Amino acid sequence: MDIRFEKREHLQEKPDQKNLGFGKHFTDYMFVMDWDKEQGWHDAAIVPYGGIPMDPATMVLHYAQETFEGMKAYRTAEGKIQLFRPEMNARRMIKSNERLCMPGVPEEMFVEAVKALVKAQEDWVPSEPGTSLYIRPFMFATEASLGVHMAKSYKFVIITTPVGAYYAEGINPVKILVEDEYVRAVKGGTGFTKCGGNYASSIAGQVKAEKMGCTQVLWLDGVHRKYVEEVGTMNIMFKIAGEIYTAPLEGTVLPGVTRDSLIHILRDWGYKVNETHLSIDDLMKAGHDGTLEEAFGTGTAAVVSPVGEFVYKDDSVIVNDFKIGELTQKLYDTLTGIQWGKLEDKYGWTTPVE
Ligand SMILES: *Cc1c(COP(=O)(O)O)cnc(C)c1O
Repeated sequence: MDIRFEKREHLQEKPDQKNLGFGKHFTDYMFVMDWDKEQGWHDAAIVPYGGIPMDPATMVLHYAQETFEGMKAYRTAEGKIQLFRPEMNARRMIKSNERLCMPGVPEEMFVEAVKALVKAQEDWVPSEPGTSLYIRPFMFATEASLGVHMAKSYKFVIITTPVGAYYAEGINPVKILVEDEYVRAVKGGTGFTKCGGNYASSIAGQVKAEKMGCTQVLWLDGVHRKYVEEVGTMNIMFKIAGEIYTAPLEGTVLPGVTRDSLIHILRDWGYKVNETHLSIDDLMKAGHDGTLEEAFGTGTAAVVSPVGEFVYKDDSVIVNDFKIGELTQKLYDTLTGIQWGKLEDKYGWTTPVE
């Protein structure tokens, strides 16, 4: 791929690595590339980070044809930079785009673009413990038209932001509201895609959770409001009587890269991982009778996020005395160990940026 490089005159001052937050600082450059029917993908470029002028009739603003991805670049102790399973993000975005009738960025092109952008501003990959460069590829319809149809043109963009730990509180357990009114996804819908629209309709649940002193929402299935699916931005796993439970990938749950990686590791360690429908009643029961040993969300941003409490209707259960569980901690240490190059990568999951 031919990538034009447009140099900016003044580079920004870098933020304090000890106080990065999440998605607050944006780097000097971004990657852009356009698609239309005649030319396919064209005009790939790394350009100064900045605004994207838009016609007010740009279709994404009206009908939300938009998909995105989330991944990270990690700096190892030797100062090298690596990505974690970037091809999984590339393939997932292709699937998201198929569902939304948007053109896919071929896998090799996607990974090459990510690597080129990270390489072009490698000084932005932080080195403080727990920090990384969060990478946000996204795509949207650019055609200016109010007719509802598959757009004739699209833009693929990658922006990057140095980040600290996802939760300001660190990896402390969080309190989660089990949502029994709103739903996130149904079979046949877009639950398995990473699209902005899924998030737009989920914010009401998030606002409600925050009002009730919770950090996140646990979504139940959209048909029966009975089976546990996933958390706002994470998949979720439970350890009940020694076995692991997580929702199956049947079109309503996001196929997380972290979920997949942890399932591999858990099975390697000899755990039985059940990708199955777990009802909220069974979960609360396990919480009350003490068989719910651990619960944790999984996702690129937070890696592993222990759950300390579930609130469901008038009931609530505390998990593991609101402390991080032994397995949760071990999974966190193992996965982050591989990602930051501190542990041997026996699965071949990391890819150098050189
Ligand atoms: C991104 C995302 C996840 C986690 O996926 P990872 O690939 O592990 O980061 C889970 N659920 C939803 C709804 C998401 O958007």
